[in-house]
Amino acid sequence: MTTNRTFTMIKPDAVEGKHTGAILDIIIKAGFRIVAMKLLHISSEKAGAFYEVHKERPFYKDLVKYMSSGPVVAAILEKENAVEDFRKLIGATDPAKAAPGTIRALFAKSIEANAVHGSDSNENAKIEGDFYFSMLERV
Ligand code: GDP
Repeated sequence: MTTNRTFTMIKPDAVEGKHTGAILDIIIKAGFRIVAMKLLHISSEKAGAFYEVHKERPFYKDLVKYMSSGPVVAAILEKENAVEDFRKLIGATDPAKAAPGTIRALFAKSIEANAVHGSDSNENAKIEGDFYFSMLERV
């Protein structure tokens, strides 16, 4: 079940920049089915827990501050080969290196404020989806 699902967040810069609709449109037209979705403003504690794996990285503090700076749209997405295909759709972490036409190339402001999150493995997709959504919130 988890192998065809991934987890995403439209990050604060993209929500603030009024790109939520355009990004969802790209995601849906790329063939992803929305299994769960919500708009929420996460606390720095929740952002810190979500990015726990990056705790030792130099940008961790800034990342936590940024991710709790405004509302995000969190979603679980379903598609064949979801994790890999979604990473391709969003492009490289640094928008300057993201392939043309990818969501980050189109909408990201910087390596930090890079418009969207996409799980990097099936295992993390499940952990991240479970972090944000109960079973009752999935269709
Ligand atoms: P991702 O899997 O492409 O999201 O990239 P990573 O897992 O490496 O990093 C997680 C998030 O941390 C990224 O999406 C960025 O928002 C942020 N980030 C990554 N690298 C840097 C960096 O060098 N500086 C800053 N300020 N933020 C970064």
